[in-house]
Amino acid sequence: MTPRGYGPGASFCPRCAAPLPGPAPTTCAGCRYQLFVNARPTVGLFVLDSTPSQLPGSGPSEFLDRAPGQVSGQPEPRFLALRRAAEPMIGRWETPGGFCDGWEHPAEAAVREAREELGVSITLGEHIGMYVGSYEFQDEVLPVLDHFFLATLDDPEIVLDPAESAELNWFSLVDPPPLAFATMDAAVREAARRLRI
Ligand SMILES: [Zn+2]
Repeated sequence: MTPRGYGPGASFCPRCAAPLPGPAPTTCAGCRYQLFVNARPTVGLFVLDSTPSQLPGSGPSEFLDRAPGQVSGQPEPRFLALRRAAEPMIGRWETPGGFCDGWEHPAEAAVREAREELGVSITLGEHIGMYVGSYEFQDEVLPVLDHFFLATLDDPEIVLDPAESAELNWFSLVDPPPLAFATMDAAVREAARRLRI
């Protein structure tokens, strides 16, 4: 069977299987098919174990207006991480999340992934940012566009999907473990900055 990648390394036309003249973006000389490679959207969640409203005497605006490093005498929120049970990066800590499906909006994907991976409904918070990263999938390295959101649990009873996650833990946003993907490491720094911790 002729190996045919669909990512940045594609060397054969996905429509007519003719060799492509060069890397994407390119046009097949055989059938004029135009091949583009785009970063695939994913979502990642920083599920927090406390919310501004749960912190005594700290309303949302007070919480968000706090200066970085300011001593509040109140617990800082921690975020939920899952230990990956599957390749790539098996055994590494990650934020819950996954790929957007078809026309699914990242915010909808975030709610769906929480239900699938954690068995809970969540309340979605602030969009932390978008990060371009790499994901190894079916022997190709694909570009991904990772969206990160803050979130809180509507239901404290987390039920992990053993096919996806081996265990869970809660970590400090300012002292996180190395995460499975560089985009997660960047996003956790931004999440801490947004929360002024
Ligand atoms: Zn072609």
